[in-house]
Amino acid sequence: MPDGTATQPWQPFGWQAMRLEVPEEWSLSHAEGDGKSGIVRLSDSRDVRLTLQWQANGSADGVPVALEKHIAQIKREISRSPSGWQVKRETNLVNWRDRPHESYACRGESEVNGIVWFCPACKRICHAAISTGAEDGAAVARRCLKGLCDHPTDGATTWSFYGHTFSIPERFRLERPTLRTGCLEMVFRHRESLIEVVRVSLAEEVLRGVTLIEWFKTFYGRRIEDFRREITESKHRGHEALECEGEMLWHRRASVLFRPYYMRAIAWRCSEEDKLYIFRWSAIKSPANEFEKFAGKVQCHET
Ligand SMILES: [Zn+2]
Ligand SMILES: [Zn+2]
Repeated sequence: MPDGTATQPWQPFGWQAMRLEVPEEWSLSHAEGDGKSGIVRLSDSRDVRLTLQWQANGSADGVPVALEKHIAQIKREISRSPSGWQVKRETNLVNWRDRPHESYACRGESEVNGIVWFCPACKRICHAAISTGAEDGAAVARRCLKGLCDHPTDGATTWSFYGHTFSIPERFRLERPTLRTGCLEMVFRHRESLIEVVRVSLAEEVLRGVTLIEWFKTFYGRRIEDFRREITESKHRGHEALECEGEMLWHRRASVLFRPYYMRAIAWRCSEEDKLYIFRWSAIKSPANEFEKFAGKVQCHET
């Protein structure tokens, strides 16, 4: 049955190890929590279209309990609507063999197709609710859930939002997301090591009258001043780029033990996208091959 899901453009979305494909016009509108428990919402220009929730340390027995909770929540929300509602269970939204699950549909003023599942691999209880505002809601929900993955794979966590896709080693946890218009700055931590992934829009305007190296120095300011660093011009994927590597100055190490004394970064300007990218790694010592591997996972114009 044609359902429109094959013709409209889709894009990847990834947040805290949750990965799936969504219609292109849905984008991140809310995020809270961490890898253990959290929630994200994606919206289009009119409404929330996808809600994803996860909770660590769950069990398969927790699925019916979580389902009741979510349905009760939806009923509360929809009961405020004058048009009433109808909840249908066991909608066979997916046919997962590896994850115990229960799906439901809720029809009122709008239609919500949802599912609660338990992943034996990561022991998380998760919930997804999809509301398209269109008649083919179940088909869109199925397409979203088709390739859904809820835990890191191959030792890496892939993040993908606002058309910005990158991976970081699984052991790193998100410490600070800064999502400003024109600048996405994600900071991840594992013990004393930090990874920063930055994307800045309107590169042409940002670099008017300044070189890439000058911009980089200004962007980090004090954060790289403590390092005896070398910044060299280079190429990355054919783009104008710079590489920066250095160690913290001895007199700055002072009495603070186990600070990231080593820093390495690559920054480049993608003219095709008119964006600037930085991948920076700070640690006690060089991350060796991991730097190259994960710097290479920050996608720009070509995917
Ligand atoms: Zn999982
Ligand atoms: Zn590029």
